[in-house]
Amino acid sequence: MPAVSPAAVPALLARNAPLRRPALAAGLLALLPVGAACAQGRPAARPAPAVPASHATVREALRVLRADNAWTLDQQASICEVPAPPFKEAARAAEYRRRLEALGLRNVRIDAEGNVIAERPGSGGGGTVVVSAHLDTVFPEGTDVKVQRSGTRMAGPGIGDDCRGLATLLAVARAYDRAKVATRGPVLFVGTVGEEGAGNLRGVRHLFAKELAGRTVDYFISVDGTGLAVTSRAVGSHRYRATYAGPGGHSYGAFGMPNPVHALGRAIAKIADLQVPSSPRTTFSVGIVQGGTSVNAIAGEASMDVDLRSESAASLDSVDAALRRALDAALAEERARWPGSTAALTLKVDTIGIRPAGSQPDDAPIVRAAVEAGRSLGFTAPTVASSTDANVPMSLGIPSITMDAGGDGQGAHSLEERYDDGAQGWLGPQWVALVVATLAGVR
Ligand SMILES: [Zn+2]
Repeated sequence: MPAVSPAAVPALLARNAPLRRPALAAGLLALLPVGAACAQGRPAARPAPAVPASHATVREALRVLRADNAWTLDQQASICEVPAPPFKEAARAAEYRRRLEALGLRNVRIDAEGNVIAERPGSGGGGTVVVSAHLDTVFPEGTDVKVQRSGTRMAGPGIGDDCRGLATLLAVARAYDRAKVATRGPVLFVGTVGEEGAGNLRGVRHLFAKELAGRTVDYFISVDGTGLAVTSRAVGSHRYRATYAGPGGHSYGAFGMPNPVHALGRAIAKIADLQVPSSPRTTFSVGIVQGGTSVNAIAGEASMDVDLRSESAASLDSVDAALRRALDAALAEERARWPGSTAALTLKVDTIGIRPAGSQPDDAPIVRAAVEAGRSLGFTAPTVASSTDANVPMSLGIPSITMDAGGDGQGAHSLEERYDDGAQGWLGPQWVALVVATLAGVR
């Protein structure tokens, strides 16, 4: 995994613990046979982690997940009817805590940021696995969150993203308990806050910066989304609001001074022409423009919201630097256009959100574990890139993935969101249960 550049993630590093390379090294070494580590500086091919699919208790847990699939769907629908607007996840968090406690998990608590954390102790000798799903939705307070059900289908805001993940965690914890699965490493079940949009991953940042700062986390799994793919690469994003401002004035009477709207136009023209690599995929977009008060006035202010993304921290840095050059050049050009004017023109750049990029090779043990576990359940899980809670631990060097939770989802982030469990929705929870057991080890 490439180290994340400190320049790329100032906001992250300001709030997070130091990079945790030792945890990564320990996690990888635990899965390497003695003597398999780097020969002459070249990493040896890593063996696939052993998936304990035929272990008696694990088999029983998988059976429970399939047999009690209706329980999982009931959890999914009912947790979704507890609203969880951005920054207002407390009601759903309290209910999630209650359900985790009812399943017999230990040390169930809500941390200072609002994350729900529950622990299932290990028997000793295995890695610590954090498996999480996010509590928050994109829907504002007052949204009707009633879930409509018909056979295997459900409709309601957030039903797939991420009520499916929340229900999957509950189902896995319950199946482990029923089947008396004894993992070697402890498993932490976590409901995070602030995954969506403006939440800017605040829950998972807090988790690693504060709540679990004193602990080695060997593996992190976010269960988020529907289908059966695994996110092994984290798409990072930098989002800014750039504002040009000046005194403004009458369009005719004050003509001859720098115009913030014109400066914004110059900047947008430069951004539109930025060159970015197609691999690693790197993107830019001006999403919102605002400014001005009247057709016959030089605006006092004009702003735009810009979104930059990449799978590569270096490419994200580089498009970020190009954006800043474009903004500065537009400022200089608009000032130079009116050399006789004493009116000021300023540029301010506010950070809306920073999500760190991160990637792992597809032969990383945690990715292999997910792919191999899928294979043993009879499907091939594609590896994809996305922006999820796993961005944060991945950027800190902790082996991390995001797993889909089965079924089929449509219309995420819309009021018409739908979920269909189909004929084999239970494969999602089975897959998560098997991957957690693989990573934590089973006695
Ligand atoms: Zn989500």
